Amino acid sequence: MKKAPVNRIIPFSNVDGPGNRTSIFFQGCTFHCLFCHNPETMTCCRSCGICLSYCPVKALRKKDGKIVWDSEACVQCDTCLKVCPHFSSPRVTWMTVEDVLNQIRRAMPYIDGITTSGGDCTLYPSFLAELFTAVKQQGKTCLIDANGAYDFASDPALMDVCDGVMLDVKAVEPSWHRELVSFDVEPVLRNLDYLLSVGKLQEVRTVILPNRDRENSETVQFVSQRIGGRCPYKIIRYRPFGVRPEYRRIMGEEETDPVYAESFVLLAREKGASEAFMV
Ligand code: SF4
Ligand code: SF4
Repeated sequence: MKKAPVNRIIPFSNVDGPGNRTSIFFQGCTFHCLFCHNPETMTCCRSCGICLSYCPVKALRKKDGKIVWDSEACVQCDTCLKVCPHFSSPRVTWMTVEDVLNQIRRAMPYIDGITTSGGDCTLYPSFLAELFTAVKQQGKTCLIDANGAYDFASDPALMDVCDGVMLDVKAVEPSWHRELVSFDVEPVLRNLDYLLSVGKLQEVRTVILPNRDRENSETVQFVSQRIGGRCPYKIIRYRPFGVRPEYRRIMGEEETDPVYAESFVLLAREKGASEAFMV
């Protein structure tokens, strides 16, 4: 039976798409963003065992070469995440679609739908298609929060059951995009156009970095001219909280000034993104 690594499930969220939603975070990502706030979701655990001795309550052990996490014993101190040198977490559960449905069953009467996120949930497209098919049968909507690496146009089965994609466009200049996230920008921009063309672009998001006037402007202008008023454009302030110390040295220790970020909301609206807003 198909399984995917689930990092956590938040039963009720009002920041992962419209209405009240259950958010499901998958483990693993195609990007390696310098400003990632959840770096422990980037890769799947390789069972190196380094974190085991650091757990203060012995909630981690190794069995048959794999890490076993005792969720009952865990006190959520996050020590294992901080000491993992591989941008991973031992607190991940490989779940079937049925397992996920069982976990979200109690929330179902109270939510508008689900949002899958990560990491990058599109590493598991056939799992998503199966999960969405089951959730839609219950009259709920299914959204994907994506980094844009996956070729959505190549997967009509997934698009048939996906109500929309919330897409990150972190940069548009190719070399800066690669430096920032270790991945090419072309697939992201192809997805931007494709999702617009099929009416499934739910939202675009861009993080505004401090002291990066040219890069911020290029990205905001490009996206705004592309999307116009067809979907919301979320302008996000960079915040160093959660970013790994080695990357804070590159990205800066200060969060983006709200007045500075607001100037990019105004730029976005001036360039056509009438639904631009800041968080
Ligand atoms: S978060 Fe849980 S598993 Fe990780 S070190 Fe702390 S108690 Fe142990
Ligand atoms: S979570 Fe990280 S440190 Fe712990 S066993 Fe997995 S890869 Fe190793």
